[in-house]
Order: sequence, then C-alpha cells, then structure tokens
Amino acid sequence: MRRILSGIQPSGRLTIGNYLGAIKQFVALQHEAECFFMIADYHALTVPQEPEALRQQTLQVAAMYYAAGIDPQKATVFVQSHVPAHTELGWVMQCLAHFGELGRMTQFKDKSAGKESVSAGLFTYPTLQAADILLYQATHVPVGEDQKQHLELTRDLAERFNKRFGETFVLPEPLIQKVGGRIMSLDDPTKKMSKSNPNPNSYISLLDEPDVIRKKIKRAVTDSETEVRYDPEKKAAISNLMTIYALCSGLSLEAIEERYRGKGYGVFKADLAEVVVETLTPIQERYRELVESAALREHLAEGAERAAQVANRTLEAVREKIGLLPRG
Ligand code: ATP
Ligand code: MG
Repeated sequence: MRRILSGIQPSGRLTIGNYLGAIKQFVALQHEAECFFMIADYHALTVPQEPEALRQQTLQVAAMYYAAGIDPQKATVFVQSHVPAHTELGWVMQCLAHFGELGRMTQFKDKSAGKESVSAGLFTYPTLQAADILLYQATHVPVGEDQKQHLELTRDLAERFNKRFGETFVLPEPLIQKVGGRIMSLDDPTKKMSKSNPNPNSYISLLDEPDVIRKKIKRAVTDSETEVRYDPEKKAAISNLMTIYALCSGLSLEAIEERYRGKGYGVFKADLAEVVVETLTPIQERYRELVESAALREHLAEGAERAAQVANRTLEAVREKIGLLPRG
C-alpha cells in the first residue's frame, strides 16, 4: 500500500494555493493510501513567529485539514513538534547533508533574498523535511511544484544513508499536480502565491469573506489584452486565474476559454469570484465549527500517538545503524 506524508507550515493563513496544490490532493489520497498529514510547526520557526499567533495558526491548519475533508478515521493528522523523532532524525540528516547542496536550494535563496539576517534553521530546514518524510517510509509525497527540489534532496539523502549504512529508507516520489501545482500571486504572476507574503492582496486566504474574495480578484493583475486564453508564458496572470477557475469548478481550461470568448476580463473575473466563494463557503462553515472544538485537540493527541509509533520504529533502526548507544 502507498504511504503518504505531507505537511503545511502554520506560518500564516492558508491560501487557495495551499488548497489547490496540496490539501485537495490529500483529501483524495486518504481513500487509497495510508496517510500522515503534519502541521509543520518546527518549519514555521525558520522565520520569526509571534508565540500566541503560532499556537493559533497551528490549530487553524489542523481545523482546515478536517474542514477541507480529511477524515480523522482515515488519515493521521499530527503536529510535528509533538513527535520528537522528527528533530532527532533531523539532526542525523543535517550531519549527512552537505553544506553546498543546501546552498543550492532555490527556496532558501528566495526566502533569504534581501533579508539582513536569516536563521540557520532556514538554511538547514530541508534536512528536517527529509527526516519528516523518511521517518514514515513514505512512498509518495503530495506537494506543490515549489517543493520538488526539496524532495530530490530527500531522495539523495535517503540513498546516501542506504549506501553507507545499509537499506533503511524508502525513496519517496513527489506527487505534483499538472494543473494547480503552482498557483501564482494575484499581484505578480511571476511569483508563487505564499501565505507568508506580507501583502494580503497577493493571495486568497481560505478564510477570506466573500466580499474580500471579490475585491481581491477584481484587483488581480491581468494583461493589456481582453482575451481569456490559456497561455502561461505570454498570459501568465490570466492563465493563473483560469487555473483557479478550472480547479474550483471542475471545468476544463478549453471549456473556460469557450465560455468567455469575446466577453472580456470583467465578466470572467466576476464569475471566477463566485466560483471561488462557492468552493470556500462550505469549507469555512465546517472550519468555524471545528477550530474551537475540544474534538480538534483530541484528534491531534491521537494523531501524535499514531505517528510516533511509526516514526520511533524508524528512528530506532537508524540509531542502531549509525552506532548510537542504545538507551538503557
Ligand atoms: P510560506 O510562505 O510560509 O512558505 P506557503 O504558502 O509556501 O507558506 P507551505 O506551508 O510552505 O505554504 O507549503 C504547504 C504546501 O502547499 C506545500 O505542499 C507547498 O508545495 C504547497 N504550496 C504552497 N504554495 C503553493 C502554490 N502557490 N501553489 C501550489 N501549491 C503550493
Ligand atoms: Mg512555502
């Protein structure tokens, strides 16, 4: 059976990019694979977080997983820092990774660009991510396009470990959607949409009110033409909006082109806003019921227990292979 591990950082309000690129895949996969979905709170610490906000955001990501359709009976949802094996194997991975290969990670370059100082954790975070995945012997990792390079690093580290210490880790494959794997910012179609972007007009939050969604889509940049046509190279902004439309409505890109032939961007954007509102409203309703509930904390406690059972088994095998003295 396929084993899935993926995660989301509680580094802000989840965006429609997180939903279309990641969570939507998670919901589909839980029916056909053994799934572990993490709230990556240690990863969020790679950039400064307000303590109280971090705690709230952690619960919000958990509530959003369930609100989007993850079933606690089918999938294991847990908070990364509740399972200490992650940081333990993370250290081992840091010692296996090379300084140079971490320096080549484009996400580090993007996130550190223009900053006066960046944490060492931002630099080494792909090694903790490798540990997250390898602990569960995940065969597949559903992620957005931006995580492809980190997945390659995870495979390299797993292979390096296996060669040096004997077969231990499964080499995981990324699962990246062809359409939706990279939703772009509303204000700049050359940058990916990100929840940590300080400009809220760059993204649609999964918790945005209908009127906010309408306003943001209305303001989204387009091009100087009027034709609703899918061409990610020449018409990146409108192609991005069409992608969001297609994934929320279930219509194909061709059908959308057909529907808006000769109609211009105004009509298209107004309809897109309604399609997004219709997609997000039921999720928001379920979210509001869940986020303050005692059941949410209970699910997370159970999830951490189930996750730790699997993770600790792998960690024990690793400790033995690399020569750490057994406890007791
Ligand atoms: P941050 O800005 O804090 O890095 P983020 O929006 O990039 O936040 P992550 O928590 O880093 O979100 O990533 C969670 C998941 O969402 C990952 O699988 C990632 O690949 C996916 N993802 C993030 N942004 C997009 C996007 N714009 N389009 C598609 N998938 C995305
Ligand atoms: Mg990210």
